[in-house]
Amino acid sequence: MREYDSLYVDGQWRKPPAGGTIPVVSPVTEEQFTSVPLADRSDVDDAVAAAQRALRSPEWGAISPDERAVLLERFADEMEKNASERAALTTAQNGMPIGLAEGYEGQGPVYLLRYYAGLARATPLEEHRPRFGGGGTTVVRRQPVGVVAAIVPWNFPQALTMFKVAPALAAGCTVVLKPSPETTLDALELAATAERAGLPAGVLNVVTGGVDIGRHLVAHPGVNKIAFTGSSAAGREIGEVAGRLLRPATLELGGKSAAIVLDDADLNASVEGLAMAGLLNTGQTCFASTRILAPRSRHDEVLEAVAAFASNLVIGDPTDPGTHVGPLVSDRQRQRVESYIEAGKADGARLATGGGRPEQDKGWFVQPTVFGTGNDTKIAREEIFGPVLVVIPYGDVDEAVAIANDSEYGLGGTVWTSDPQRGLDVARRVETGVVGINNSMLDFGAPFGGVKSSGIGRELGPEGLHAYFELKSVFLLD
Ligand code: NAD
Repeated sequence: MREYDSLYVDGQWRKPPAGGTIPVVSPVTEEQFTSVPLADRSDVDDAVAAAQRALRSPEWGAISPDERAVLLERFADEMEKNASERAALTTAQNGMPIGLAEGYEGQGPVYLLRYYAGLARATPLEEHRPRFGGGGTTVVRRQPVGVVAAIVPWNFPQALTMFKVAPALAAGCTVVLKPSPETTLDALELAATAERAGLPAGVLNVVTGGVDIGRHLVAHPGVNKIAFTGSSAAGREIGEVAGRLLRPATLELGGKSAAIVLDDADLNASVEGLAMAGLLNTGQTCFASTRILAPRSRHDEVLEAVAAFASNLVIGDPTDPGTHVGPLVSDRQRQRVESYIEAGKADGARLATGGGRPEQDKGWFVQPTVFGTGNDTKIAREEIFGPVLVVIPYGDVDEAVAIANDSEYGLGGTVWTSDPQRGLDVARRVETGVVGINNSMLDFGAPFGGVKSSGIGRELGPEGLHAYFELKSVFLLD
């Protein structure tokens, strides 16, 4: 593996003055295999200053949307060339099964860059409107919001970074990216790829570190917008800072989404989709449908089918394309997940499968675990972020919707039925940001985000681009 020993600030590779490092530890071997530099506050200050300069530079600030689109497409072409290598970086750091990483982490950013390059071309920056009430014209201008602080978690690091970077650049903004300390290698590879693509200096900067560096960036006076993905606890803190500073913030936070199995669902056809809607990326997926709501008359059938499917998944080396379930990202995350499994047992939930560690000698593995329980238990209410599903019985559809909505969160969700129209009717009633009928795939062309404690604002789709524009109205008289 190549060395990643420098930060990327103002188009230059630089070593942090204090010389700090962050160890990079394999979740499979539990051993450190490399380290990355740890930025200090002066690196963040320099990155924000560089991003401010680039906003007004002739190479970036003065170019047309078409010229920006060409740069984004060149960036996409370079990202396509190292897609497999980048996917492998994610797997090495967070244990994501490689088949999943190839799609979401390798190819996902390429699609997003091309998609937003297309939108940059198609979105007019000025609209001329007849003045309301007559007598003149108003020019409504879309301008880049400015320097974006992009802060991302470790679970889908490259996809979630590109949810922000692609639309921000398409709108003409500049970015200071702070990845999670668990997944920094891929962010530095992103910077190297941007450099190869010829992105002008200061347009994309990468600073590294944990909460301290994140806090310094969020509150920095040179930042114009915050784009954050992570836990609801951190999102609340960042939202408070943004409120105090009157700074726009997009907050993509945690979830505890419901999979509503209707009484007409064909379980044979849907059990794989239903179980994987909750277990994708070893359950470390924000929009995972981890609460399965089953009609009381079919509860045991659903519980047993999901448990049988989960117990047959291949657990092991995430670099093996045949693996379905990899390790959790860290020892801390495994302890967290195991404490929830213990809470489920202590609450008297019915353990249908899993509940322990598989036979691997090393690595932060946890068995896929399925419980039968009510919606009032800790494991049904709190985000676990691991391979733990609960199956909850309901009486009629009204009760299913009420249970789905009886959550602090509202991010994802699914409905499983033989009648998609009926599924759509139920989906309309669920208080959440995205819902899939008989599937849990995201659509990069449609808005994604949450309600309640799952966040504020939307990414993806044209709406994701508009989040990086500031609007100005210029009034002209006849
Ligand atoms: P986290 O909130 O601990 O950290 C996320 C990122 O924010 C990291 O880069 C971290 O260093 C930084 N950070 C943490 N506190 C900060 C603060 N006060 N100020 C500035 N930066 C701060 O989350 P995590 O454990 O890395 O990720 C898991 C969480 O992310 C889960 O709750 C999951 O649901 C959520 N998530 C949400 C989405 C979504 O789109 N809604 C997607 C993926 C993950």
